Amino acid sequence: MKHIRNIAIIAHVDHGKTTLVDQMLRVTGSFRAGKDVGTRVMDSNPLERERGITIFSKNASVRWSASAGPNAGESYKINIVDTPGHADFGGEVERILRMVNGVLLLVDAFEGPMPQTRFVTRKALELGLQPVIILNKVDRPDSDPDRAHDQVLELLLELEANDAQLDAPFLYASAKAGWAAAEPPGPGGEHPSDLEALFEAVVRTVPAPAGDPAAPFQMLVSTLDYSPYLGRMAIGRVENGTLAVGDSVAVWPLDQDAPLARVRVPKLYGFEAMEKVETESGSAGEIIAIAGLEGAEIGSTICDPEQPTRMAGIAVEPPTLSVEMRPNTSPFSGRSGQFVTSRQIRERLEREVLSNVALRVEDTDQPDRFRVSGRGELHLGILMEQMRREGFEFSVSRPQVITRPGEGGRIEEPYEEMVADLPESMMGVVIRKVSERRGEMQHVEHAEGAMVRLHFLVPTRALFGYRSEFLTDTRGEGTMHRQFAHYGPWAGDLTVRTNGAMVCMAAGTATGYSLFGLQERGTLFIGPGTAVYDGMIVGENARENDLEVNVTKGKKQTNVRSSGADDAIVLETPREITLEGALEFIREDELVEITPDAIRLRKRALTTHERKKDRRASPGG
Ligand code: GDP
Repeated sequence: MKHIRNIAIIAHVDHGKTTLVDQMLRVTGSFRAGKDVGTRVMDSNPLERERGITIFSKNASVRWSASAGPNAGESYKINIVDTPGHADFGGEVERILRMVNGVLLLVDAFEGPMPQTRFVTRKALELGLQPVIILNKVDRPDSDPDRAHDQVLELLLELEANDAQLDAPFLYASAKAGWAAAEPPGPGGEHPSDLEALFEAVVRTVPAPAGDPAAPFQMLVSTLDYSPYLGRMAIGRVENGTLAVGDSVAVWPLDQDAPLARVRVPKLYGFEAMEKVETESGSAGEIIAIAGLEGAEIGSTICDPEQPTRMAGIAVEPPTLSVEMRPNTSPFSGRSGQFVTSRQIRERLEREVLSNVALRVEDTDQPDRFRVSGRGELHLGILMEQMRREGFEFSVSRPQVITRPGEGGRIEEPYEEMVADLPESMMGVVIRKVSERRGEMQHVEHAEGAMVRLHFLVPTRALFGYRSEFLTDTRGEGTMHRQFAHYGPWAGDLTVRTNGAMVCMAAGTATGYSLFGLQERGTLFIGPGTAVYDGMIVGENARENDLEVNVTKGKKQTNVRSSGADDAIVLETPREITLEGALEFIREDELVEITPDAIRLRKRALTTHERKKDRRASPGG
């Protein structure tokens, strides 16, 4: 056990995590013979790239022998765990960090630390984990390792790192070229030619896991995996004892007073290089996967049935936000999707629940509609993105916050931390609008170039529909990030005035001519040539009410065009509709249509007649 190191890697997308882990595997000869060494172990998928955070946690492990120094000749196994990078995965982050004793904080020496990794870094420091800092890409001529060094140090101070953590080793690396150094490159650019300094720093500063391999077996389930052949797999770090295939264990759920019946372990896996590898046994300190434990949940303790003791687990946090998911019923249904029926959607959701622990799927009173609840917009948004990339088509209702009873029976609702970066000159309007939505400003940071960063705490409910206003108010120069913070008192009625929609009342193809006529009445979401249907939302009205529009009108083809006005049509670039933007935008009587090749907004009612009826029926309409 003295020879095991468990570390988590924290990195912003593109800072070089994949490249570094690949190099660590390569130089330690961890790629198995015949394996394609070009495989990128921790490669991020397109979704992660778009968002700049890690979503799916992956594991790898390397074996390294010290060739010099006090431990020369000693051989170590270093398990590297990937960390999901967002507060929406809060509990998950913490569970994963509980498996390790240290973190590799990888930072691009040109970009410096990024806000998206702040949350995980804070969690790691709070749990007392020892960081090892790697400033990567120092080979780039535009990199500034000194500045990055200071920024990381500042971050550690801000996040209240303890003394040992502040003493973290800083390494200077080119993951791409495969080297790491304990000092910045010399004036002549000289540097070592290998990663020894990195391995050495990890082995020296990160403590070996504690625990007793001879004690009764104990493991906390940190992650679940699911395989069609083996069923549920419980993954965690063995806290105490040794488990062998064929041994009996008890599964003790987090919320029960006694363990469940004993189960015999049919198969065990360890992690070698980038794969799960079948193994005969696993001991204290090692990260293993146990097959065949159907009753195991995140937070369960797997223990010796003769001497069961439960470990303090972290419960899965309850969902904060829910949407209704249903088959796509728009006239464009089935144009690009492969899986479109409610049965297919249901099966997909049921499969997701097996490993996506914070997700809930429930039936509704309508047989083809499902209530899907998760930890926030990002959590739900990622599932939807994944599904559309797999070829699913469906539509989704406006998200609703999930309230809970608080102290004294008072209702509580979720609040979010919102961080907005914008030019100083636009601060006033943003602060006013967020306050109107019961947001409280926590603090202001002044950044370079007359930019400010504003931190707010706002009820989640109040932020629906706000993003588009924010973009308009900051003329596209502002960016905002939001994430779940905590539950707080119900903020009362939020009479937030939001703009109405421009609703298409005729099917066909949008023409530049008609869009030109509409652009002064609001913000368009589509450009000329877009196929539209009756009931589709093509823009945001500048006013509160909906505006029925016809975007398919055009001058007859036979018209002789004279030079002049018509040819000089200048269309503004339409506002891009992202999945999250769409979810925030829609009202009760609207849906987001999600297909592999498009995200569209629509009214539930697809004809002018029905929409009129709806408006008459709704109290405010
Ligand atoms: P990840 O998203 O954090 O896994 O980042 P990748 O490992 O995929 O790297 C992102 C990009 O940065 C790729 O184009 C790499 O080739 C490049 N990169 C990674 N490490 C270095 C480095 O040390 N120096 C330079 N110049 N480029 C690097």
